[in-house]
Formats: sequence, C-alpha cells, structure tokens
Amino acid sequence: MKTTMRWLLSAVVLITLSQLVPAQTKRIVIAADTVLDGRGLVLHNMRIVVEGSKIVSVEPAAGAKGAADYDLRSLTVLPGWIDAHVHITWSFGADGKNAGAGGTSQDSAYSAASNAWVTLMAGFTTVQSVGAPNDVSLRDAIAKGALPGPRILTAVEPLQGRGERTGAADEIREFVRKQKAAGADLIKIFASQSIRQGGGMTLSQDQLNTACDEAKKQGLRTLVHAYKEAVRAATDAGCTEIEHGTMATDDDLKLMAVKGTYLDPQAGLVIENYLLNKERYLGTPGYTEEGFAAMEKVLSLNHDLVRRASAVPGLKIVFGTDAVAGAHGRNAEEFIDRVRDGGQDPMAAMVSANSIGAEAMGMGDKIGSISPGLEADIIALDGDPLKDITAVRRVVFVMKGGVVYKYVSRAAIPVYAGVQP
Ligand SMILES: [Zn+2]
Repeated sequence: MKTTMRWLLSAVVLITLSQLVPAQTKRIVIAADTVLDGRGLVLHNMRIVVEGSKIVSVEPAAGAKGAADYDLRSLTVLPGWIDAHVHITWSFGADGKNAGAGGTSQDSAYSAASNAWVTLMAGFTTVQSVGAPNDVSLRDAIAKGALPGPRILTAVEPLQGRGERTGAADEIREFVRKQKAAGADLIKIFASQSIRQGGGMTLSQDQLNTACDEAKKQGLRTLVHAYKEAVRAATDAGCTEIEHGTMATDDDLKLMAVKGTYLDPQAGLVIENYLLNKERYLGTPGYTEEGFAAMEKVLSLNHDLVRRASAVPGLKIVFGTDAVAGAHGRNAEEFIDRVRDGGQDPMAAMVSANSIGAEAMGMGDKIGSISPGLEADIIALDGDPLKDITAVRRVVFVMKGGVVYKYVSRAAIPVYAGVQP
C-alpha cells in the first residue's frame, strides 16, 4: 500500500472514531472513605464523580471500576465551607497598622487578593463580605476565573444606623436601591453601636422595618448587625439574619426560631484576633484601650450566646467569623471556638458552614452539600473533626467548582499571616 493511501485510510478511521465517541467532559473521580455530606450524614466508602463544575454522582465505591483521580481515603471529605460574614478587603497597611477596608492603592488591592487566596486555601469556597464597595471588583475577578479565591457575595456599602440622621423612610429605601444598582448581593444594616461602645440601638423599629421591607421588594436578603434589644427589633422587622446577637435573651432566640430568622453568632475568632493584633488596631478608627477592655468581657458573653442558641430547637445557626485583617485564612479557628468554648456539637458546627449556610444565602440548590447536581465544592481534612475539632486546621484538599486548588500532604500546609495553623 502506498504511504498516501495508508494515511488516507487511517484518517478515515480517525474521523469515524471521533464520530462514534462524542466529545466528553473529563470526569474526575474522588475516592473517599469518610464523607460528611453537609446535611448531617456521614457516608462511608464512596466515590464522588465530578464533571465540569458539578458533582454528577455520589455512589458506593463497592464494585466501581477503574482508579480514582484523587484518592482521599485517609481523609475526611466534606463540602467547601461557607463563611457568612467576612470583610474580605480588610488588611494591615504598609505601616503594619489596621487599614480597614483599604483604599484603591496597589498594596490594598494585592492584600485583598491575598485575603481571598488564603481564605480559599483554608477550605472556604464561598464567603459573604458585608461589605465594602471594593469587594465588587474582587468578586467579579474571581467569578471570571481571573483570580483564585472563594465565591464572594457582597453587601457593597452597609446602611449605618445613625438614629434620626439615618434619614427618612424614602431616603432609607433609596439607599437600599442604590446598593442593588451597585451590584449588591445582599443588604447589610447596622442597627446597634459597636459592642466596644456599648451596643445601643442606632435604628428605630420603623427604620428597620423600612430597610428590610425595601430589600425584600428588591429581592435581596438583609443581614443586621444587632446586639441586645436590636435582635428582637430586627426579627420583628422580618430581616433575614442577625449578625453577632450578643446579649440576646432566650426569648429573642426562640422568636427567631419561630420566625425562621437566621443567627450568625461569633464564638471567638474575631475577638481573639483583635487581642492577638492589639498593637496593629489600637489607635486606628474605632479602636481604643476602653474598647479592648470591653472586648475581653464580650468574649465570655459570646461563648454563652453560642451555648444558649445551640439549645434552642429549630433555631438556624449559620457560620460567620467576622474575619478582618489578621483573621483571613484562619476562619476555621471559629469552629474550634464554637465546639471547645461554646459547647456546640461538632457535626452541627460543620452543617452550619455547609447546608444551613447555603440555605441562608438562598443557594441551597447550588452549594453546601455533596449531592449530584450541586457545584463541586469539595474539601478534605487530615483528621476527623467529629472526633478532634482541630482537624479543621488541616485542610489538605480544596476543589471549587470542579477545579482543584490545593492537594498537599500535611507537612506542606503553609503558614498564613505569620500564624502557624
Ligand atoms: Zn463584621
């Protein structure tokens, strides 16, 4: 046979073959011995199959043919965590001091990108930033795949309660609509002073009713920074979620359970981080010696809140760290605080950062559990958090939307922000 003829024939064979076998998305098979499904179940000896960005099947490994692409059988596999409350752009400036949400300098942009990266590496595949206008460009860059980081939802600019000066009803409504136009995924409302200043109410019941009503009309959820009596006011106003909730009464918590209002308490990381980085915060706007003295007292009140809230039947508790400069990438420390200091059941702590966190964001059909049809946001821990909660520090595998961002041995876990995990 002439060479040309042979070439032609093999070309025909190739064309025929390519017609028989349609172009397939590559499947990624993960083998896992222990899977926390994100909804409270533990599955054993499973295979998770991923195609494109999604999980297509979760099935028993028994009888499965072929090798897995990722053998995670010595690890605990679970959905990527969701942090309902971060300040993703907050960083320390070039002088080492708290620079807050940062400006538009190159340094602050790189710091924000770095915060996103270390947060993803810590196993958090979705975060809600509550919020700053410069969240928007970071959110969009990550969503386009131009930067690595967690999926970000942002409140853009929060509504600051200032009593009468907050504005009349139509001004409050206008503010909410303005955030939506600027790309907000949710609305953040401050209804109490900082706990460092006593935590008194800064919005009236009417103002809260107006803000949460307008957000609802715009199809947006409302997260309300609230302490003490503001917790009940925000619950009565029909707002979606209470942030912090320090000094809420048991009756307030029961009312939240009845009305389906989510609670996002902080068990420790945010205050521990302030105390750890005291010199970097002291003297920057809002941080005084008196404020730091108050924080030490708040820590035990917060442990008490987590303990009481965990005992209220039907109360939906999400996981939010309030991560600011110094805490990004250490978000999982909050799980340890919850379980060790707040007495929460470890499985409940995991579920709060998975399916409950997703449901609270209205994303329960997209993220928060390991089920077919959902985004392939999958992480693995070296250890079992149900037996030893400190396993949350040892995230050795991170997949977000079907892309693997981390797969390391325990020894290769890097040190973030100068703090050994
Ligand atoms: Zn916050």
